[in-house]
Amino acid sequence: MKKTVSFSKNSVNVFFHILTNCNLKCRHCYINPEQHGENILPITTIEAWMDVFARKSNRANIIFLGGEPTLHKDLWLAIKKAKELGYNSITVDTNGYLFNNIISKVNPDEVDYFSFSLDGATRQTNDMLRGKGSYDQCIAGIREAVSRGFAASLIYTVSRTNIHELNMMAPLLKDLGIDRFFIQVLGIRGKSAKSRDKELRVPISDWLSVIPDAAEKIAGLGITVTYPKVFLRPEEPFECAGLIAENYFIFPNGRVYRCPLCEDYPLHSMIFKDNKLVKTGKINENDFFGLKIPEGCVMNKVIQPENLKYTTDGTPEYKIACCLLKEEISI
Ligand code: SF4
Ligand code: SF4
Repeated sequence: MKKTVSFSKNSVNVFFHILTNCNLKCRHCYINPEQHGENILPITTIEAWMDVFARKSNRANIIFLGGEPTLHKDLWLAIKKAKELGYNSITVDTNGYLFNNIISKVNPDEVDYFSFSLDGATRQTNDMLRGKGSYDQCIAGIREAVSRGFAASLIYTVSRTNIHELNMMAPLLKDLGIDRFFIQVLGIRGKSAKSRDKELRVPISDWLSVIPDAAEKIAGLGITVTYPKVFLRPEEPFECAGLIAENYFIFPNGRVYRCPLCEDYPLHSMIFKDNKLVKTGKINENDFFGLKIPEGCVMNKVIQPENLKYTTDGTPEYKIACCLLKEEISI
């Protein structure tokens, strides 16, 4: 069944970057130390900040991110604390290196998913994007996690370099025991925004002709597939998650964003000060969320106008959906 996953209005999603350092140097990494900080949060701070969001909802979901979050020696303590605080689900996004022996320090009752990042069905393609040896290590990490009873999902960031291998992912996913597959669109953030890697972005025609079909095929194997909606037909309604959903993207320098597209700029609407979450002054991301334009997402128009196309009379050919709007297919 295919459905557009509207933003969940009753849950709080906490995307918690507990550090920004990483052992890899992926070409399209969105982490921007100048804007996000280079510090490693002490466990006491992680616990205090998690407590703030746990109080907002008893259905909050937390995703631990980095950099590579398993490089944090106290990640296991953070996971146990998240469980104790009553988080509805706990996910760890990892490049597969699973540092600090993390999977022997937590158990499958405490982590809903280890979510692995792999950007190619072959070693050659993945390692070109993510670094030599990263394919083998990711596969080994998945096998180890699954053999210990953890649920594993996989994130595949689509670019011009690897779109042709999406159709080769199905047997690999099945073999690895993956039960959720996330296709991501390459964002013009972090490194991709600064370099010529803007050229890695997949054009609309390729996206529409490849992604939905590939997703359907993989879902046919009983794997739930999620991918960003990206483009809206003129008659489809546009909604900004910043106005109607509760997503928080936390960085180790204390900045808290509601919109991922704002993360390369000092546009955060909140910040932690002395472990208290306080609102920032104008201008911040909140000032953009309510602006209505025919092209859909305002931030997209500001930072990646090359995504847009117009007819000869100046009407947008399509709207750009909120980057947090997803299609989900499960059979
Ligand atoms: S593994 Fe993630 S955090 Fe590390 S370099 Fe790659 S994209 Fe960036
Ligand atoms: S991506 Fe666009 S639509 Fe989504 S939260 Fe940000 S500004 Fe709003």
